[in-house]
Amino acid sequence: MSWLKRPVKGLLLDISGVLRDGDHVIPGSLEAVQRLQASGIPFRLVTNETQVTVEKTVEKLTKLGFTGICPSSIFAPAPAVAAHLRENSLRGYLLVHPNVLPQFEGVETTEPNCVVVGDAAEHFNYERLNQAFRVLLSLRDKEEPMRLFSLGKGRYYKEEDGLCLDLGPFTAALEYATGAQAQIFGKPNATFFQAALKDLSLSPEEVVMIGDDIVGDVGGAQGAGLRGVLVRTGKFRASDENHDTVKPDAIVDNLSQAVELIMNQNL
Ligand SMILES: [Mg+2]
Repeated sequence: MSWLKRPVKGLLLDISGVLRDGDHVIPGSLEAVQRLQASGIPFRLVTNETQVTVEKTVEKLTKLGFTGICPSSIFAPAPAVAAHLRENSLRGYLLVHPNVLPQFEGVETTEPNCVVVGDAAEHFNYERLNQAFRVLLSLRDKEEPMRLFSLGKGRYYKEEDGLCLDLGPFTAALEYATGAQAQIFGKPNATFFQAALKDLSLSPEEVVMIGDDIVGDVGGAQGAGLRGVLVRTGKFRASDENHDTVKPDAIVDNLSQAVELIMNQNL
């Protein structure tokens, strides 16, 4: 298989739709992760999860049986944008889920001069969106840049009761209303993948990204020079196999099959 012609020295794995679906482990994923851990092939988890802190993500994974995963091996948009705000002394209007607020500790929120949009889920409402809109317009009035930071630009994701609107449509609403252009933290942004590669001390050609999002995971990884493998789990739809713009390096049934193929190739 052509995607395995070059050795796989490291992996980036998406979490939702690859390791778990809501509160359920995707069959074979637990064993696949254990195989990777035993093999010594390093991997990092790259997620656009923005409803909880990375510590909570580890806790949830541990409960499902995934062991040996630490918060520093998880790359998520919220810690990245929080660091950006702290480093640049920006004051944020945080349109994010309350559960992820601990990630923004030390970030000033009075008299905001930027807006951060995360997956606020049921906490998105007209009042909060309008507040974010007003912050952006007030910046324009002061002839400051309309700083709009979005923790990804996903269109939708899958929960157990069905597909759910992701943060992308809400970010797009603010862009549409203000003319601002959001800066994206998270997949498919190349810099997000590069941070994980740096942590692995590997180059893009050496690493494979495995995800269930044809655009965010596969397209994003390919854009950063990695190989992108699509799994037929999570939010995968049959139509993804013939996507207009993104052609995965491989399509596999699930993580377990991907790991099996990589292991056989790396022997
Ligand atoms: Mg996913």
